[in-house]
Amino acid sequence: MASATDARYGQKETSDQNFDYMFKILIIGNSSVGKTSFLFRYADDSFTPAFVSTVGIDFKVKTIYRNDKRIKLQIWDTAGQERYRTITTAYYRGAMGFILMYDITNEESFNAVQDWSTQIKTYSWDNAQVLLVGNKCDMEDERVVSSERGRQLADHLGFEFFEASAKDNINVKQTFERLVDVICEKMSESLDTADPAVTGAKQGPQLTDQQTPPHQDCAC
Ligand code: GDP
Ligand code: MG
Repeated sequence: MASATDARYGQKETSDQNFDYMFKILIIGNSSVGKTSFLFRYADDSFTPAFVSTVGIDFKVKTIYRNDKRIKLQIWDTAGQERYRTITTAYYRGAMGFILMYDITNEESFNAVQDWSTQIKTYSWDNAQVLLVGNKCDMEDERVVSSERGRQLADHLGFEFFEASAKDNINVKQTFERLVDVICEKMSESLDTADPAVTGAKQGPQLTDQQTPPHQDCAC
């Protein structure tokens, strides 16, 4: 796993040009909803039933192929700070996509979605894309949040919606791939209309920043 230092100072990342785009993605939501498990399932195809210690984890990197493009994903997991709602604004910097997660067996985690959404809107780039994910859909017997309520909230917030299970590997890959697709769609839309929020980067990722794709002409 790469370290945060590599990412911040770009040593390793800038020398590795073996990709067309790089997207920084954040997984956020209440503690215990399954964020770390979801990341491990996606990046390593593993699941650990015991509580996964988040301490020391910065991010994982995974390169995928979408529409003939190599896209390097830098996926960040909150290192437990979500418990205290003390995620620093620096964490949000440069993020192009978010997976906002709740647990379908935990009402409180669902009620917190609105707050997380407000945080994203306050601290992140205007064009950042968000997918709402109701995790632990394998636990049907203990479900307290119906799919319908999840979908309605996603519609209300303007996000796409998936139910998923890190445990049973349901919709994990699909969630990331859909997020990458909506980021690509938004990028090409913005570049078509020469949106200054993207090209001028008032609040957006800096074009010189290594977290910005090396090419601006997204055609995916
Ligand atoms: P985080 O605090 O959001 O990072 O959550 P963790 O990934 O540490 O998961 C919290 C607990 O939920 C752990 O005991 C996991 O094994 C469990 N868990 C995570 N995802 C799932 C899932 O999809 N299904 C089930 N049944 N349990 C899960
Ligand atoms: Mg965790």
